[in-house]
Amino acid sequence: KADAIGFIGLGQMGYNMANNLALKAGRPLIVHDVVESTLDKFKDANKDVQIAATPAELADRVGTIITMLPASPHVKEVYFGTDGVLQGLAKDTMVIDSSTIDALVAKELAAAIVEKGAVALDAPVSGGILGAAAGTLTFMVGAASEADFNQAKPLLELMGKNIVYCGANGNGQVAKICNNMLLGISMIAVSETMQLGIRMGMDPKLLANILNTSSGRCWSSDTYNPCPDVIPNTPSCKGYTGGFGNTLMAKDLRLAMNAAQESNSTVLMGALASQVYNRVSNEKEYRGLDFSSVFKVSGAGRKS
Ligand code: NAD
Repeated sequence: KADAIGFIGLGQMGYNMANNLALKAGRPLIVHDVVESTLDKFKDANKDVQIAATPAELADRVGTIITMLPASPHVKEVYFGTDGVLQGLAKDTMVIDSSTIDALVAKELAAAIVEKGAVALDAPVSGGILGAAAGTLTFMVGAASEADFNQAKPLLELMGKNIVYCGANGNGQVAKICNNMLLGISMIAVSETMQLGIRMGMDPKLLANILNTSSGRCWSSDTYNPCPDVIPNTPSCKGYTGGFGNTLMAKDLRLAMNAAQESNSTVLMGALASQVYNRVSNEKEYRGLDFSSVFKVSGAGRKS
């Protein structure tokens, strides 16, 4: 049992992460998800994998648990629910939640896990679906001690390339939402900048080249430019399909706003970005698109 790994949440990210564990860990793998067809698909691809009917049953059968769920309410249900992980959790189990959730919920969860004598880590990721498939994710890890972090690191290295210790429980989530708040702001900023330049008569590629060798350069401009046909193979060149969805960006910005309120921080640009992404993720036309599709609404539609 101590050798077995349990994985809950085989979605876009979790499926690929668990797949890497199945291929590389050389340890028994037990999985759980609420969607039957997802479990069947995973089992078809990985014959030796076992399936647990509930999170509690899974917890009872493994020495390490990893969860990769959409948001805080799902994490609470999976851990604190009637058949939740905490019902079956034994002493010394290592529990890693890689979902992006509220830092306060992560702290609350860690306290409940530690109370059972188990080890808790929050380890949200960046790198997207491609990074999950390639095993090159960045893990931002919050843990009670560096020793806990070091215990988890070899396992995380099977799914990621950069494994970073961020300090106390919850700090992994803090690092993740700070990065994504900056990303949301910079994507809107690059979108507005490109729209302004184009409307003033600049060629988009030329403008992007200048920005990318000048002080305005950032990841949103030089790697993931939201203006179509500026950087090959980006979602903006494929009708804003694939990539990181507007709804996920809106969720991460809401988490950043919660954190700002909690810590009494002024985040004017973050608050604006949060409003913009809430709006686009509520519009049918944009809901399913990559977050760089904000380019289509930036700077457009103002009539004088
Ligand atoms: P997803 O919605 O594709 O997958 C979530 C999985 O959890 C689904 O298979 C779903 O059936 C399962 N699930 C939901 N509730 C459950 C429950 N109660 N019990 C068991 N299983 C349950 O989401 P995703 O894109 O894989 O993202 C997972 C997390 O990773 C999110 O927090 C997201 O913000 C974060 N993230 C996503 C990306 C990305 O590019 N998709 C990048 C970085 C971080």
